[in-house]
Amino acid sequence: MEMANVEETMRELRESYRRRKTRSAAWRRTQLEGLSRMLKEKEAEIFKALKQDLGKAPEEAFRDEIGILWKSLNLTMASLEEWMAPKKVPVPIIAFPTSAELVPEPLGVVLILSSWNFPFGLSLDPLIGAIAAGNAVVLKPSEMAPACSTFLATHIPKYLDHEAVKVIPGGVHVAQILLDQKWDKIFFTGSARVGRIVMSAAAKHLTPVTLELGGKCPAILDRLSFSMDYQVAVKRIVSGKWGPCSGQACVGIDYLLVEEQRVPKLMEDIKIHLKKLYGDKPLETNSMSRIVNKHHFQRLKKLLDEPGVAATIIHGGALDEPNLFIEPTILLNPPLDSELMTEEIFGPLLPIITLKKIDESIDFINARPRPLAMYVFTKDESLKKKVVAETSSGSVTFNDAIIQFALDTLPFGGVGESGFGKYHGKFSFDAFSHGKSVLRRSFLTEFSFGYPPWNAYKLRF
Ligand code: NAD
Repeated sequence: MEMANVEETMRELRESYRRRKTRSAAWRRTQLEGLSRMLKEKEAEIFKALKQDLGKAPEEAFRDEIGILWKSLNLTMASLEEWMAPKKVPVPIIAFPTSAELVPEPLGVVLILSSWNFPFGLSLDPLIGAIAAGNAVVLKPSEMAPACSTFLATHIPKYLDHEAVKVIPGGVHVAQILLDQKWDKIFFTGSARVGRIVMSAAAKHLTPVTLELGGKCPAILDRLSFSMDYQVAVKRIVSGKWGPCSGQACVGIDYLLVEEQRVPKLMEDIKIHLKKLYGDKPLETNSMSRIVNKHHFQRLKKLLDEPGVAATIIHGGALDEPNLFIEPTILLNPPLDSELMTEEIFGPLLPIITLKKIDESIDFINARPRPLAMYVFTKDESLKKKVVAETSSGSVTFNDAIIQFALDTLPFGGVGESGFGKYHGKFSFDAFSHGKSVLRRSFLTEFSFGYPPWNAYKLRF
């Protein structure tokens, strides 16, 4: 896609928006129904594309992407008119008789740039919000999931209004051309590095942005005296690390903090749960996605090759380059200044960092950039309170991992270097809307205290 084509596309979208094509509830509903039909009729092709790009099993794809999209679509279609309706706000008695309301209006022509690890979820969930809010949209999926990107570019125009919703596939060059345009909103999912590029491009036009970024999401495992709780916690940690896209997930567990005396038993139990979930021969499992491409495989390999890191591997470490597969790998106390511990891992490697006392985890986390998500496995109410009060992160989940991503009633988004802005459920509608303040006055009453000439009586009336 070249500059001239993008400019032509922008003209078409602006014209559709100017003609108020995207404004009516009926138009929005028709698009959402189109997306539902696409998910239903093309499910097999969607699973095939995810298998091709990421080796993702259909069950995992449904749990992490397609099922979540269904939930999002159903909620949005059921709530559309309610979300679009003006919301009355209270007015102080002094303004009587006056009424005030917030009227949601679309932002205009918006750009969605998405990532490759959940190529359907991270493209279509923001799209649902953008359409529900009445915008014209360009979606650029990630070039790193080419089968999924091709699917979206081929099928979205067949199911949705192609005069107002466009998919423009492509890589960095296309993204740069798109970022040179004037948008009314940019919704970006990806790395902090590219987030900075997006934000500076947006600044030229004072375009608002949502940045859904990543970072290192810590998990804390406290002492759990009841053995069934403890076993469930270990299973959830294993699943929260290796479950979503083989650890290539922004909300996946990056590293685990635990008191040092618990490590020997913990390692035995992690191995038991790994075996239960992924079998005896992890390199042959069909239940784990593979690394997205050679570049990321090499990046992960390099993390293990750093000085002092390989010696800390206490489980796994096998690499199958032709099949882009890395065995679930656990490292005990790798150097804290290694890239493994300073950069987001985004892969199936789990560093375990030991502490003398679990309370030290608060300082450990606070000494690093604010995470997108934090997971704390504990029944200690005072630790829970401390974590909520004394750390900052996009979300905190107690006694599970990843599940917060599936809740429409909790906004999803980061803080600090993990991004800003939020979406999911009604928050997606709000992310693509401007809540316009509308105030209606009456001519019935008129007080003189607001007008000159001033006198002492009018001061602080
Ligand atoms: P990325 O930043 O490399 O790419 C994201 C998008 O930006 C893609 O569409 C890509 O084409 C585009 N892009 C890449 N380089 C660009 C450039 N120089 N100029 C303009 N556009 C460019 O990220 P990724 O590899 O797709 O994803 C991994 C990162 O995304 C991780 O940090 C991860 O934590 C984060 N992530 C966040 C979420 C979330 O919801 N918060 C979800 C998934 C991934």
